[in-house]
Amino acid sequence: RWVVPITLVLTVCTAITLVLTLLATNTTLPPGTKFGLVFDAGSSHTSLFVYQWPGDKENDTGVVSQTMACDVQGDGISSYARNPEAAGRSLRPCLDEAVKLIPAPQLAQTPVYLGATAGMRILSLQDPKAADGVLAEVGKTIQEYPMDFRGARIISGAEEGAYGWITINYLLDTFTKYSVKNGGWIRPPASTVLGALDLGGASTQISFLPSGSIADPATASHFRLYGFNYTIYTHSYLCYGQAQAQKQVIQKLSQESQATPGQVEHPCYHKGFKNKVMARSIYDSPCTAHLQPRGFNLNQEMALVGTGNVTKCQQAIRAIFNFTACGLHHPCAFNGTYQPDASGQFFAFSAFFYTFNFLNITSGQSLLEVMDTIKQYCSRSWTNVTESYPKHNLHWLQDYCANANYILVLLLEGYKFSDKSWTSIRFQQKASGTDIGWTLGYMLNLTNIVPVEAPVHVRTQKE
Ligand code: AMP
Repeated sequence: RWVVPITLVLTVCTAITLVLTLLATNTTLPPGTKFGLVFDAGSSHTSLFVYQWPGDKENDTGVVSQTMACDVQGDGISSYARNPEAAGRSLRPCLDEAVKLIPAPQLAQTPVYLGATAGMRILSLQDPKAADGVLAEVGKTIQEYPMDFRGARIISGAEEGAYGWITINYLLDTFTKYSVKNGGWIRPPASTVLGALDLGGASTQISFLPSGSIADPATASHFRLYGFNYTIYTHSYLCYGQAQAQKQVIQKLSQESQATPGQVEHPCYHKGFKNKVMARSIYDSPCTAHLQPRGFNLNQEMALVGTGNVTKCQQAIRAIFNFTACGLHHPCAFNGTYQPDASGQFFAFSAFFYTFNFLNITSGQSLLEVMDTIKQYCSRSWTNVTESYPKHNLHWLQDYCANANYILVLLLEGYKFSDKSWTSIRFQQKASGTDIGWTLGYMLNLTNIVPVEAPVHVRTQKE
């Protein structure tokens, strides 16, 4: 009486799984949900971000959220200069994943953008044809999908900085507030608008709303958002992303007297660390190529030997900055770049976060504590470090000491944060479940989701 045929059990199980799968995917989406895709083609890797928002409220503040982030396998698209078709192919698994997530009838109205940053800026300086070839191939691949392809391009450093600033202020809802008392939208006080600090592999950006005026118009970006005008300071330093900065440091160290020919003592690498690199890999970018000594053999090997000395490490890093070239530009950051005083709260994301998160110094530690942690970490031997983090990516592990010190020099001596203003920097990668970076701001701007004038419709608590 209790024997149930196995085929019946299997059929019931399959039906339940199917219903659960359908419920877990598209069918649970509220009708009218819209989607947008942005590829962040960075110097070291590419990520695809999928955003969604309720179509009937798209101009309200803070309604766009991230539904998916997909890491493209392999290096950044600029590394495919000699094999551009492979750059296109590398995007397929992430595009396939996005197609599965978006309801089929919505696909044709879903915009897809690809923005390439400093890795491609560098390639286009070195070899503009190769850069065009890579962009053409990634565009070709995206167009084979049923979404609405809106272009693959290299975004400027100023755009990268400004869109990061829009992203963070959109996510933290600082642009505008509806005041029931005043019966209208109110402008947020300048002190509540957040600044953005972004560190990539090839460039770094600083963007904020200064308390006073901006003396150098080349560093100003203008926006009208939700009915208010904003003029923000933004600057992008090409060659000062962490990977390019570390190439510059190695180049400078190798110029100094070498006790052993072909060997470079590196104070930012741990004691006991040894790695052989080809000289070509240090001089292969416009950030260092011009510093190549005459008759230098690019095919020689360089042995990098760690000495784990924080004081010397910071000294070596300082050497890649020019703090005396400010000329008429005052106040000034470095390399002659004008920068008003960095005032207000800042969010530091991307590689600022990766390094500080690894060192557990992202919870509002004082500058003294941060410096002490970095010093302790750098003084550990390479054997101790690799044994303590056996599962960690070795490529990243070897650079945390160097990158942490680079961050200190950049923020304190470059951007002139002090031990007092240090605590106004929050090291964070996500806000409201969404990654902080330029991509969201880029999409909000290009799709007019952040309107120029304040929305007429006012969201109530119940909606
Ligand atoms: P980009 O590709 O230009 O955005 O640069 C990101 C930088 O952060 C590169 O220098 C990467 O090597 C580094 N990076 C990316 N992901 C991680 C991670 N999870 N941990 C440590 N470093 C990372």
